[in-house]
Amino acid sequence: MRYRVAVVGAAGRMGRRLVANIMADEKLVLAGAVDVPDSPFLGKDAGSLAGCGDAGVPVCGDLAEVLASGVDAVIDFATAGVAEAARQVIASGAAMVIGTTALTAADRAALRSLAEQGGRIVAANNMSVGVNLLFKLVKDAAAKLGPEYNVEIVEMHHNRKLDAPSGTAVRLGEVVCEARHWDYGEVVANGRGGNVGRRPEREIGMHALRGGDVVGDHTVIFAADGERLELSHRAGSRDMFAKGALLAVEFLMHSGAGLYDMQDVLNLK
Ligand code: NAD
Repeated sequence: MRYRVAVVGAAGRMGRRLVANIMADEKLVLAGAVDVPDSPFLGKDAGSLAGCGDAGVPVCGDLAEVLASGVDAVIDFATAGVAEAARQVIASGAAMVIGTTALTAADRAALRSLAEQGGRIVAANNMSVGVNLLFKLVKDAAAKLGPEYNVEIVEMHHNRKLDAPSGTAVRLGEVVCEARHWDYGEVVANGRGGNVGRRPEREIGMHALRGGDVVGDHTVIFAADGERLELSHRAGSRDMFAKGALLAVEFLMHSGAGLYDMQDVLNLK
């Protein structure tokens, strides 16, 4: 049995890597490729766009049309419209994997409500296996090392990235806050500047670097008097996000209703 998987945001940087990885996976079939209705890539073959040869799947501007052809799962890495897409996907009975970052509180509420109505959804700001293990290591370090170990988070991404700090950096900060029972909104200092005074113990410095074609680097620093622990992850290509998204599809094919994250998929909870 090969699962039929469609990609939303298929003409984008991540969308193309998702198409390529689905085409290379013998358990999956590329069932559709969706992008905005005014995309210059509409009607072009999704496999050719991804540099993998003809997939026989043209980029389409209408998700409903793709869902009507019979789809087991949709992977959405579009930069907009996620909640509306999720409503359509869950109503069709398909499962949904969401990699889009910068979801609003309203988007998250809509996803929770869809899961309560029987939807199977995985949503994660970072689908890489290594980054999800980093979340666990940071949680353990933040809990074991006292507040005298000052936490600073540094991320770097390519110069086309729209949001800052990255969703992954924010999640790393949240993980530290959960372990130390801190309030994220109260303790995060984004990119210090000027006469900021002595660093309070109860603070997380957050620093977003931008430049070139960097796929995604994240470092969490625990610095005390006399020693420093640094936990780092560097992404070398977008394929490891795509591969994580495919693991999430497989997970949902054997799961009941719920709103899950990659910690669930990788059994790290
Ligand atoms: P991109 O700009 O290259 O591609 C986005 C694509 O989405 C474009 O082709 C755009 O036309 C399309 N799109 C926008 N609105 C749409 C809509 N309503 N319906 C259908 N298609 C729509 O961006 P990218 O670098 O591929 O990143 C896409 C998203 O994935 C971003 O939110 C990024 O932060 C996120 N991302 C997540 C992970 C992860 O592991 N979760 C990893 C990398 C990137």
